[in-house]
Amino acid sequence: MNRDFVAESDRITPAFRPVQVEKAAPCQEGCANCGDIRGWIGTIAQRSKTGLSREEAFARSWRMIADVNPFPSVLGRVCPHPCEQHCNRSTLDEPLAINAMERFLGDWAIEQGLALGRLENVPVETWIGVVGAGPSGLSFAYQMARRGYRVTIYESRAQAGGMLRYGVPDYRLPPEVLDAEIQRILDLGVDLKLNMAVGRDISLEALRARHEKLYLGIGAQMGREIGIPGEKGPSVWTGTDFLSRINCGEEIEVGARVVVVGGGNTAMDAARVARRSGADVTILYRRSREEMPAIEYDIEDALEEGVNLRLLVAPVRLERTPDGKLDSLVARRMQLGEPDSSGRCRPLAVPDSEFRLPLDSLIAAVSQSPGLEGFAALGHKGNWLMTDAHGAVGHGVLAGGDVLELGIAGNAILQGRNAAEQVHFHLQGIEHDASMPESRPDIGPDQVKLDSRPGSEAVRVPKLPGDERITGGVAEVASTISEEQFLAEAERCFSCGFCFGCEQCSMFCTSGCFTKLEEVMPGMYFTLMLDECKECGKCIEVCPCGYLDPA
Ligand SMILES: Cc1cc2nc3c(=O)[nH]c(=O)nc-3n(C[C@H](O)[C@H](O)[C@H](O)COP(=O)(O)OP(=O)(O)OC[C@H]3O[C@@H](n4cnc5c(N)ncnc54)[C@H](O)[C@@H]3O)c2cc1C
Repeated sequence: MNRDFVAESDRITPAFRPVQVEKAAPCQEGCANCGDIRGWIGTIAQRSKTGLSREEAFARSWRMIADVNPFPSVLGRVCPHPCEQHCNRSTLDEPLAINAMERFLGDWAIEQGLALGRLENVPVETWIGVVGAGPSGLSFAYQMARRGYRVTIYESRAQAGGMLRYGVPDYRLPPEVLDAEIQRILDLGVDLKLNMAVGRDISLEALRARHEKLYLGIGAQMGREIGIPGEKGPSVWTGTDFLSRINCGEEIEVGARVVVVGGGNTAMDAARVARRSGADVTILYRRSREEMPAIEYDIEDALEEGVNLRLLVAPVRLERTPDGKLDSLVARRMQLGEPDSSGRCRPLAVPDSEFRLPLDSLIAAVSQSPGLEGFAALGHKGNWLMTDAHGAVGHGVLAGGDVLELGIAGNAILQGRNAAEQVHFHLQGIEHDASMPESRPDIGPDQVKLDSRPGSEAVRVPKLPGDERITGGVAEVASTISEEQFLAEAERCFSCGFCFGCEQCSMFCTSGCFTKLEEVMPGMYFTLMLDECKECGKCIEVCPCGYLDPA
């Protein structure tokens, strides 16, 4: 325990006067998109203390997430959940299954038909334009519409959702889940113009003249080719093109042997989709498994489904039969050299190591880049848009999401929200700093009484066995946890650094310093009256969540 020392007569004695200090929840680190995670889990776990029915607690928790992220059901399925890596509970046993809980709440809200709420703002006539109805553009549109702005989205494709619809396969994210969460945003009055490509059907300049502010969330739609001889021709696709065609319902003949080149999520998804046709699928990656950028559990899922992984192998050229049919891929073995600018070890060719792999089709899932035709006037760096210090890429034009740099959906949503707040503050003349949250001290596992509760395993998300996934086609691989599992998981939260009303402090205090509030809520159970405090420090010592500090 930290101690301050105070003079008492001529003696120096330790002073343990308590002060309530809310700490920064570690789960929040690395994730700005699940809202106040500790708060929404606490709302569930403490519902009987705060007098909420189960339904009221569920709805309130969902709103806390939806405040920052209108896609809890979607992100509950696809987010790599960095929040869980920071959970203090992992020091005791296993981190809370935050992602599975978010999905449960998202699905529950869809079933209940809950609508997204507006903030208390009068309708604003300012007309805001958004280019691209991916998660970033939709997040921006949502945040503007709920503040009362008139919003129009221009989307080049036939449906909204961006890579969540045209990239992520249905067995990971059923389209009806995406549809439901998008519809709720549109229900706020957002106008969505589909099949309207900016740069083709309407110019950027026309939109700049029409709208007070523009947000560009156009993503990175262009799959990159590998750049090897023989690549141009039938039976070769980029990963994004292949997945987009499949997600549009096209039937693609991949043949019996498919090679996928790349080590990222697009490569995993392309391989897993190809595998569902019954093909023998091999992923080639030029570095080692540790360097693969794909999410670890996506790699595991692909392996469980029978996808082969060949590491430290790079493609050299494709060989075709005289009639243009793919015959084989010539590849070479690689070894790792010194780290390159990305921090990953540079792959170096092993001399005289070329070999042939027979194949019927090849999917090049090596990278993507944005299509910037029509956006040349804006700030960019190479193939990517680049924002200035204020998030702008041109006068009155902001941008976010994959068009700046390839990322994950959560990041695209976060950038859309940040841009919307920036635009709103600017238009309303609000000082930006006024909105900045106060910085709070961190709380690590050593400041929480992890031994105050028995250890318990985190809930396991039910998954289809690998062979059933192959025969199941688009059947969703992972399921939503049950309500009982959800409630039990919420109870595992230690509410790090935030009072959850255990009342230990008040029970141990012999001076009556802790007065229970009439209306309680997570973090607010007691007021402190320290006139009679004996400075024994017992309350600080027993507080299991580390909310009480020495003053
Ligand atoms: C195969 C694949 C799997 C992925 N898996 C995951 C995952 O599991 N978890 C995760 O978090 N992330 C995943 N991602 C990444 C995630 O999908 C993206 O980070 C996210 O979709 C980026 O959002 P965005 O809104 O910036 O761009 P996008 O989602 O790409 O949306 C951009 C939108 O803009 C539209 N558009 C483009 N140009 C124009 C134009 N000129 N005029 C009008 N409209 C235009 C596009 O049609 C599109 O709808 C995956 C990506 C891919 C490709």
